[in-house]
Parts: sequence; structure tokens; C-alpha cells
Amino acid sequence: MRIAVASGKGGTGKTLVSVNLSAAAGLDLADLDVEEPNAFLYFGDGPSTIVPVSRPVPSIDEGSCDLCGECARVCAFNALVRLPRRIRVHEELCHGCGACARLCPHQAIEEVDHEMGVLISTASGERRLVYGRLNIGEANAVPLIKAVKASLAPGRTVLMDCPPGTSCNMVEAVRGSDYAIMVAEPTPFGAHDLALALDVLERLEVPHGVAINKAGMGGVDIAAMCAARGTTVLGAIPFSRDIAQRHAQGRSLMDRPEDRRTFLGLWGAVMKEMRP
Ligand code: SF4
Ligand code: SF4
Repeated sequence: MRIAVASGKGGTGKTLVSVNLSAAAGLDLADLDVEEPNAFLYFGDGPSTIVPVSRPVPSIDEGSCDLCGECARVCAFNALVRLPRRIRVHEELCHGCGACARLCPHQAIEEVDHEMGVLISTASGERRLVYGRLNIGEANAVPLIKAVKASLAPGRTVLMDCPPGTSCNMVEAVRGSDYAIMVAEPTPFGAHDLALALDVLERLEVPHGVAINKAGMGGVDIAAMCAARGTTVLGAIPFSRDIAQRHAQGRSLMDRPEDRRTFLGLWGAVMKEMRP
């Protein structure tokens, strides 16, 4: 089972839910927020393996190129620029679509590997963590998110801490999940972005429910909003300075029985939802 943990916006507590649900239920974790992975901070100092991840980018053979400019015209991402004497390649902007190589009339373009980041695997006891780390300056995280998902061990249930928002990165991360836990905070901004993210999950046909974080703050009734949409509320994590402080210090919330009960209850609600 692949269970996405997502949120309409950053700062709602997606990582707090992911790492503590993983600890409470003994689940593997994948951090797909490859632009700023942080789940590893809660996984101890176990040994890790690091594998580079590449994507194809064009390389121009200047001897064969007549500077016709067709490649720069076809590139939808402005990754190729025709200069007076050569074609300049901005590798960090390239999405690896292959159109330029296919349309070059002189076969002057070859695709070569460009390292975009790394895939890191580690473990804490029986639980495994895999995450991607995108190189600084890379504009497109999607291939690395795909690489992290492709590396997940078959036959094990994994929580996937997804990028926030409703961008391409979030869509790629949640796509194909068996279930999605949408973390929401009861603020006007949180409710607005939650509605957008729920629309995305509905379009992707990913079954989902909502976990309310910082319950008691903000004054927005997320439960009523979910009821109006027919969306299940899986549970609520109270707005607590103590929880925020322990999480900010990189500590697990599992050392307090009442917090452990909260996350076990959340997991029980997810299991109930997923039961056929
Ligand atoms: S399409 Fe081919 S020949 Fe034309 S400018 Fe690009 S690389 Fe050069
Ligand atoms: S592979 Fe696609 S995105 Fe990359 S430079 Fe060529 S046309 Fe642009």
C-alpha cells in the first residue's frame, strides 16, 4: 500500500504527521518533498546509501549544427537559446522531453545524462526511509520524485510525505496512491488551499481523508467543510505548544502516551477507510 500524506500548503504539519504516524504504526516512509527533504531528521543516524539520479539533457555537436534554431523554437521551457555562434543549453531548465533531438534536421543533438540529485536510503530499526535530494538550481523535481517512488520496496506499506501545494510535484507524488491523508489547519488560508488540494485528489481519483492539525486554532470549521464535501475526517491533532516544541527539536511525539494514542487513532481511521 502507498499512502500519500499531503497538504494544500506548506507549514500545516505534513511532516509531523508522516514521521509520527510512521513511528506509531511501524511503517516505512518515503520523503518525496525532494526540494527540501526533512523526514531524515527524525530517523536517527543509521548508515545510509546514496545513489545519484540523472535525467537526459541535450548535447549539441557543433560540427553538425548549422544554427537553424529549430531546437530553440520547439523547446517549450526555453532551455535552448540560439546565440550568434552556437546553441546554448540551460540544462537546469530542460524537462528531458526529447523534442529537440527528434526534430533537429541534422541529427546534431545527442542526449546525455545530467545529474539532478541523489536518492538516499536509511533505516531506523525495522522501518526504512528513502528520500530524494534535488541539486540546488534544478527547476524540475518530477523525475527525482519518480525515481524515489520507483525505488520503494514492493510488498511493504509506505507513507509518502509529499510536496505541499497543488503543483506538478504534488500531483506526481500523490498520483497512483492507494490512499491520501490530507493534512489541514483550521485557518482561512489553510481551508482555501485544502479545497484546492481536495479538488486535485478528486480529479486523480485517489481516495482520501483529512487529518486536522493544530485543532483549536484559527476559528475555521474544517470538519464542517469536509462534511459539506462528503470527505471523511480521520482525526485531529491538538494545537499545542508542547507538540510544536518537541517536533521542532527533532523529537518523536511517541514518548507521550496521549500523543501516541492520537496517531494510533489516526492510523486506525485510515485502515477503516481502506478496508474493502
Ligand atoms: S536544430 Fe539541430 S542544427 Fe538546428 S540549431 Fe538546433 S542543433 Fe543546430
Ligand atoms: S529535451 Fe525538451 S525540454 Fe529539454 S532542451 Fe530539448 S526540447 Fe527543451
